Amino acid sequence: MSIVQEITCSHCGAPISFEPGEIIATCKYCGYTVVIETGKAFTFEHSMLQNKYDPTKIEEPVRNWMRAGFLKPPDLARKSKIMEKALIYLPFWVMSVEAESDYKGIFERITPPVVKEGKIEKKYDWLVLARKATKFPTREYDVPLTGKIAYDFRKIEAFAKVLNSEIDKSEAVELAKQQIEEHHRYLAQQDVDRIIEMKNEVKTKQTVYLHAPVWFLKYEYKGKTYESLIDGATGTIIKGDIPSTGFGIF
Ligand SMILES: [Zn+2]
Repeated sequence: MSIVQEITCSHCGAPISFEPGEIIATCKYCGYTVVIETGKAFTFEHSMLQNKYDPTKIEEPVRNWMRAGFLKPPDLARKSKIMEKALIYLPFWVMSVEAESDYKGIFERITPPVVKEGKIEKKYDWLVLARKATKFPTREYDVPLTGKIAYDFRKIEAFAKVLNSEIDKSEAVELAKQQIEEHHRYLAQQDVDRIIEMKNEVKTKQTVYLHAPVWFLKYEYKGKTYESLIDGATGTIIKGDIPSTGFGIF
């Protein structure tokens, strides 16, 4: 069990509880967001995406997903039982960035090998999950940013859970830079076989703190439990465990 601590909300006076490691917390009674260490108000843009599903309706996109695709057992939708459904608003940092990488490498696929140079120029809304231990496939999550609104605690369902941030803005910017450089290295490797030099520049244009609704579902199929994650704003399956059909290649 983790130890829950409390501070008093300086806006409405209610207790704001937080767990060790959390650094930005939001009051569930008034939506006030505070930097725990300083006790001061959070000053960056705090946004949210709205959940469009209730615990009954969320089964529909999951059943549809179970029915589609040849990799799944044909009786998956019929035979599986949804055991747990939890709606969690996950905290993210979204950074609008312009990223440039100049690289030099050796193209070895021809003889003799040649030195080749190239440039990658991209714009991203790069997402960093503001939690350290939560397992979430951030890169597979196509966050529907067009639907974002200012954070409104009244739009959070009573049964939902809102997670606080464990990563501050500067740490998130640093993480985004590292991840983008890694991604560009991967892209450059499609063009040259061996990178000998690479220069990256990542300019952050805007940073938004965002709470996004994600449904965590557990379902049972033939005695085993599987997990799926669904975007509560769009009903898109972010990740779904698929039971083995038993006719695998191996
Ligand atoms: Zn409050």
